[in-house]
Amino acid sequence: MKAARFLGEGRIAIEDAAEPVAGPDEVIVDVAACALCGSDFRPLRQGWPVTPGHEIFGRVRAPGTAAHGQRVLVYIPTFCGQCAQCQAGRTNLCPRAELLGWQRPGGYAQALAVPRQCLLAVPDDIPDHLAPLLLDAIGTTAHGIRLASRVVEPGAALVVGAGPIGLGSLMVLQALGWGKLAVCEPNPARANFAASLGVELLSAEAAAARAFPLVIEASGKDAGRALALAAVAPMGAAVQLGESDQWQITETKALRRKDFFLIRSFYFPLGEYQANIELLRAHRATFEKLVDDTADLAGLEALFAAFARGERLKPLMCPA
Ligand SMILES: [Zn+2]
Ligand SMILES: [Zn+2]
Repeated sequence: MKAARFLGEGRIAIEDAAEPVAGPDEVIVDVAACALCGSDFRPLRQGWPVTPGHEIFGRVRAPGTAAHGQRVLVYIPTFCGQCAQCQAGRTNLCPRAELLGWQRPGGYAQALAVPRQCLLAVPDDIPDHLAPLLLDAIGTTAHGIRLASRVVEPGAALVVGAGPIGLGSLMVLQALGWGKLAVCEPNPARANFAASLGVELLSAEAAAARAFPLVIEASGKDAGRALALAAVAPMGAAVQLGESDQWQITETKALRRKDFFLIRSFYFPLGEYQANIELLRAHRATFEKLVDDTADLAGLEALFAAFARGERLKPLMCPA
């Protein structure tokens, strides 16, 4: 089969790879779509030992069984089901889990092996091209917003960064009935798209001068993180969803003398999947706008280059 190898410095080779082998309690999934993600920039830049790609939709390959052809999403942590986190339903926090597309081969390939418990059935009314949104664009963002809802009432919110996670956050906040929304985004195309959702555009300076009960940090940049901590209101919540290699905080007087909640949120527990399907169903016309391009494996490198320039919102790799 064909699979992508990330060589570093933005280069991707499409290679002949060995067919995946299903281990005990695993199945082979033929990839139909794998969504590009900002977190893939790290493997893209550094090179990566396994095939990346972690927002995977496909079909189970199990000829002669009832499961054959089943439409599935791939839940990326290979959670153990036994530990304290798993027992509490926090499958995203299992310390024994490996992540598909990170430590195990992922979805920028024609097929991969997936543990059975990581298969998420996709209802028939969710089309192929929208299914991957249920993972990071909706799943990751909705989980962070639900965590924040434990400590702040729905109200005004600022989103820092309008990449896929920032835009997904804005759409989920709207879907969940939060109040007036604002966004900081330097890329004009992405900012304009956010404005088309009815979201107020703010410069970083203007945002920092206000106080928001909720700030979602989705830029993965130190400056964005500093802005989130400056703009969060007293007793508000700053939710960190963006990813980066490192994070440095400069403690200012404004930070020192403010009570606020800082929430780090990673992926989502399996138990939230059904609620996320309902969010997508109820607001499909909005979420659909995110999926703005597709390419096959051979076109993945060029698609990543356009994505990195901020010219695509949430494109998909669909193997030929
Ligand atoms: Zn992702
Ligand atoms: Zn576990």
